[in-house]
Amino acid sequence: MLLHLSTWPEIDARLKQSRTVVIPIGSNEQHGPMGLLGTDWLCPEIIAHAAEKEADILVAPTFNIGMAQHHLGFSGTISLRPSTFMAAIEDWVRSLSRHGFDRIYFLNGHGGNVATIEAAFSQIYSSYSYAAEPCPFILKLKNWWDLPGISRLAAKLYPNGHGSHATPSEIAVTFAAYPDHVKSATMEPQIAPNGPIRDALDYRFRFPDGRIGSDSSLATIEHGKELIAASVKGLIDDLKKFDGE
Ligand SMILES: [Zn+2]
Repeated sequence: MLLHLSTWPEIDARLKQSRTVVIPIGSNEQHGPMGLLGTDWLCPEIIAHAAEKEADILVAPTFNIGMAQHHLGFSGTISLRPSTFMAAIEDWVRSLSRHGFDRIYFLNGHGGNVATIEAAFSQIYSSYSYAAEPCPFILKLKNWWDLPGISRLAAKLYPNGHGSHATPSEIAVTFAAYPDHVKSATMEPQIAPNGPIRDALDYRFRFPDGRIGSDSSLATIEHGKELIAASVKGLIDDLKKFDGE
């Protein structure tokens, strides 16, 4: 069930049988010369929407802008400051909680979001802690690449050149879902450099084409299909555990 394609009476009825909701969350940011700008929100959306076709789960609209200040040196990147991102996460959680959702599962597609999402969770929980009131919901953050079996599959598909940004695995997922938008580019160098992440100008200097440690050109549609199928299975299993908590 997709929240944005439902009516309020349908969500009312849904709440009587399940109070769990999945929010795909990501970022709109550069992904090297052949990765789509939407890669980090497309991946969790593609996986959650495919899982929704196989299992009885409710998926909220995709939270598609995240914390990507370090990518602002590349055209097309849109970023929220950490403080804005935290405030927006809190408002999404409080809106859903108000309706009665008590298990809110964020399926994340951007490593740069992790610290801020965790900080937002702590900020939200702290309001109950200080008031000595029970928190009426539990929150969970899961990166799609941390779903069961995915890192092993990515290591098997890409023993060299997986890297950490504009990775062939995330690009393969988007290519499998959007085959009309497959891009190609020369990788120069073949495997991008590694290094620390700081501000946008420093990032552009260290990683001139945007990639970190990866060879994006290894991505194929077939790999993407395999990664999506494994992620769907992992997500459905993980949600079962979350429901039972
Ligand atoms: Zn990414």
